[in-house]
Amino acid sequence: MKIGTPKEIAEGENRVAMTPDSAKALQKLGYDCLVEAGAGVKAGFADSVYEEAGVTVVDGAEALWAQADVIAKVRIPTTEELERLTPEKTLITFFNPGGNTEGLELAKAKGANVIAMEMVPRISRAQKMDALSSMANIAGYRAVIEAGNNFGRFFTGQVTAAGKVPPAKVLVVGAGVAGLAAIGTSTSLGAITYAFDVRPEVAEQVESMGAEFVYLDFEEEQVDGAATGGYAAVSSPEFREAQLAKFRELAPEVDIVITTALIPNREAPKLWLADMVAAMKPGSVIVDLAAERGGNVEGTVKDEKVVTENGVTIVGYTDFPSRMATQSSTLYATNIRHMMTDLTPGKTDGQVVHNMEDDVIRGATVAYQGEITFPPPPPKTK
Ligand code: NAD
Repeated sequence: MKIGTPKEIAEGENRVAMTPDSAKALQKLGYDCLVEAGAGVKAGFADSVYEEAGVTVVDGAEALWAQADVIAKVRIPTTEELERLTPEKTLITFFNPGGNTEGLELAKAKGANVIAMEMVPRISRAQKMDALSSMANIAGYRAVIEAGNNFGRFFTGQVTAAGKVPPAKVLVVGAGVAGLAAIGTSTSLGAITYAFDVRPEVAEQVESMGAEFVYLDFEEEQVDGAATGGYAAVSSPEFREAQLAKFRELAPEVDIVITTALIPNREAPKLWLADMVAAMKPGSVIVDLAAERGGNVEGTVKDEKVVTENGVTIVGYTDFPSRMATQSSTLYATNIRHMMTDLTPGKTDGQVVHNMEDDVIRGATVAYQGEITFPPPPPKTK
């Protein structure tokens, strides 16, 4: 069978779903690999490098979609792209099935099988295919780099002949995958790093990375994330007040705030309010990684960088992985390659077997043989 990757058509998207290295691994599974001409250029992979890796470069999206049995791409497909599906084809991509009824209906009408990468169950066995984590890791790293780029001082403290420089103080709000990556980057650059999460079980992880976990003065237990499948639940009003009071105390102290707080299927909670932004020192920087879902910060403008009256920069970009397209394409293509490994039980015969009894494949499949198969049942394994 043939697996092909088209050029991403979303504006500003630099990633690509197949790299020369992932193509070599896919060929070992028995697949012929195709890529649309120019698909990898913005991620640093020229057509000639694909060719050297044994990939056939195809001119134009239409020809690519027509020739490939399996299409691997990054961004949610457009109607025009979905129109190219046929019952024999499998599409592997981010799909946003929860907010893409039209796409699901079209995939169903076309009779194609669609695997949505954001639906890979977050169980141990599937970590190698967990594209959400791959991208969140990059976003967390890049958020700190972006903050540094907009911050006029060092992260680390220094004693120089020209004077003593204090270390920057960084607060990371939300210590999920992106938050932990931000914490790791911030501590490795030498900043004094604080982190807060509503899930107290992450405190140990935060501290093991050299950051300080911020505890609240709150008599009730914080909700244990273990009770909610590892995800945060909505906080009680009392807990929220205690959290905001702590943030108000920290606002004049910290130089950089990275917010990453999310609750599944909801708007991002507003946690860094206008008065906290106003209390920060001029030159401070906020990077709001929750901007896509409404933002954690009052004053965030999605996809933009704004400077407040008191000189605080608020970055609301939502394309951090695309800003590091070589790295994100490499990780995403590897996630896809692992998905293909699981879809190829023959190991070397280049034949997709779409086993709906397999928890991971079932969980991620949102359209199958003319049916919508989203939402999936809960996985049976851990
Ligand atoms: P996420 O992106 O949904 O949320 C980011 C963080 O925001 C979470 O840590 C959440 O607790 C926190 N948050 C929510 N409300 C908050 C508030 N009011 N104040 C402060 N923080 C708040 O999370 P994620 O990065 O997708 O990770 C969620 C969980 O999934 C974690 O337990 C993680 O370890 C787990 N996970 C498991 C796997 C796996 O087993 N394969 C893979 C990835 C993540």
